[in-house]
Amino acid sequence: MRYISTRGNSEPKTFTEILLGGLAPDGGLYLPQAYPQVSRAELDAWRGLSYAELALKVLGKFIDDSDIPSADLQALTFRTYTAQVYGNGRADSNFADITPLRWLEPGLATLELSNGPTLAFKDMAMQLLGNLFEYTLMKSGESLNILGATSGDTGSSAEYAMRGKRGIRVFMLSPHGKMSRFQTAQMFSLQDPNIFNIAIRGVFDDCQDIVKNAGNDHAFKQKHKLGTVNSINWARVAAQAVYYFKGYFAATRSNDEQVSFAVPSGNFGNICAGHIARMMGLPIKRLVLATNENDVLDEFFKRGVYRPRGADQTFQTSSPSMDISKASNFERFVFDLVGRDAAVVRELWRKIESGGAFDLSQTPYFERLADFGFVSGKSTHADRVATIRSVWDQYGVMIDPHTADGIKVAVELRQPGEIMVCLETALPAKFDETIHEALAIEPERPVSMAGIENLPQRFEVMDADAEAVKRFVAARVD
Ligand SMILES: *Cc1c(COP(=O)(O)O)cnc(C)c1O
Repeated sequence: MRYISTRGNSEPKTFTEILLGGLAPDGGLYLPQAYPQVSRAELDAWRGLSYAELALKVLGKFIDDSDIPSADLQALTFRTYTAQVYGNGRADSNFADITPLRWLEPGLATLELSNGPTLAFKDMAMQLLGNLFEYTLMKSGESLNILGATSGDTGSSAEYAMRGKRGIRVFMLSPHGKMSRFQTAQMFSLQDPNIFNIAIRGVFDDCQDIVKNAGNDHAFKQKHKLGTVNSINWARVAAQAVYYFKGYFAATRSNDEQVSFAVPSGNFGNICAGHIARMMGLPIKRLVLATNENDVLDEFFKRGVYRPRGADQTFQTSSPSMDISKASNFERFVFDLVGRDAAVVRELWRKIESGGAFDLSQTPYFERLADFGFVSGKSTHADRVATIRSVWDQYGVMIDPHTADGIKVAVELRQPGEIMVCLETALPAKFDETIHEALAIEPERPVSMAGIENLPQRFEVMDADAEAVKRFVAARVD
């Protein structure tokens, strides 16, 4: 298995060769040369597997034995997908399942992906990434210093995945005083010596600019072995494909059935994994993409126009992890949509990178969207609040605002007889304000998070000064 770039001008690479990197050298994203196929016999054999076993099978399709020996991959998936790691969520969940399926009514279910350490679905892939990074760095004898910027979920998920890992340090920038108390406590209470929280006097964009500045300083980047853990990382996407298989098996009795998945989307990482599972042969009927008020992707799937927006046109909403107006993983899907013609992708992204848009509505590609199973819809703050309320009233289940966006669109687009699995991307405990607005009660907090705000915190406060941050990093790495 080799990985090629969506822009067509990079050398094919192995899984391990692209594991620690981000974009391909030509600016594209990595994808397998061809999607590995899963046969009916394999699906039948996989149906009864545990999550860790299934992860080994699915990931084994993407990683050659000569790259990571299967016994090592098995040790990694078995160490990652345990009830201890994914047992931080709702008191009534079956943590042994890792991603329990919860029926709301016949044909409508949620797939719980947020019982990991930071109560959001990003832990599903990030925990594996931490173990994979440590494993490959140990083998090569190298080290890695991750410099990232976060407004909440991604940073804490990365820190909880990398804490205590040999050969890895994390420097995470966040806007000082701008995250919720809960998010701040989650990150800043980590005492591991390889985790550095840097609170920047500024906004999220200032943090991101500093990361970009350091990344563009190639001498600095190379000298200090700088890396990132952003959502375009191929291993994250591959690891996310696993729960589509698990969810499919949990929602069906036989592999003759089809399932649709509803996915609250931002950077298109989660639903891209669903697309890949479908391309591998998993019987997925439809992929229902849900956005919030930041509806760039809904506009594309409805009208064929992809028009990313700037920060000034991006709304701050009550499903903040979806406040994204340029979907970093979207290029992977478009590569498949245009028949894997890298020249077409280059031309489309030439327009995007010069601040423009592209319109496929008058091309044959637009009609192909349905062949790929995609449909979309959007949700607003009022929809989220109403959905949180109705799911609570009808089913006695409390959901978070992001999951609510997904369920709102799923219910709207659901067809008679369709099995619809809505991906739960976070727990309500992280978003008590919106829950309070909808239900006038406080969300229950998992025991593991009780009193987290009272723990001692470890962080530096710094100005939005790239050179100062670079000096801070340089002084703490080899
Ligand atoms: C990151 C995130 C999303 C969006 O996922 P993408 O992979 O970026 O599409 C949705 N909900 C929550 C809670 C998230 O943290």
